[in-house]
Amino acid sequence: MSRIDVRCPACGEINLELDLVETDGWMECEHCGYTARLLSLHRGDATVVGNCCWQVVKPLPSSRTLRAVRNHG
Ligand SMILES: [Zn+2]
Repeated sequence: MSRIDVRCPACGEINLELDLVETDGWMECEHCGYTARLLSLHRGDATVVGNCCWQVVKPLPSSRTLRAVRNHG
């Protein structure tokens, strides 16, 4: 019920109407395939770079690809 538009932290494309409450913050970018979790949202608009703090998981075959990415803010 609380779907929001989210800008992908990896490729910068916008994913429309994601339900991050239901997924506990996780989303999979439909443009680049990265999986990311929204750790914190400072304000209401997740399409604005700098409003969000992300944990990004690269979609690579190996399993050593966990990487935390923090936007300053
Ligand atoms: Zn993306």
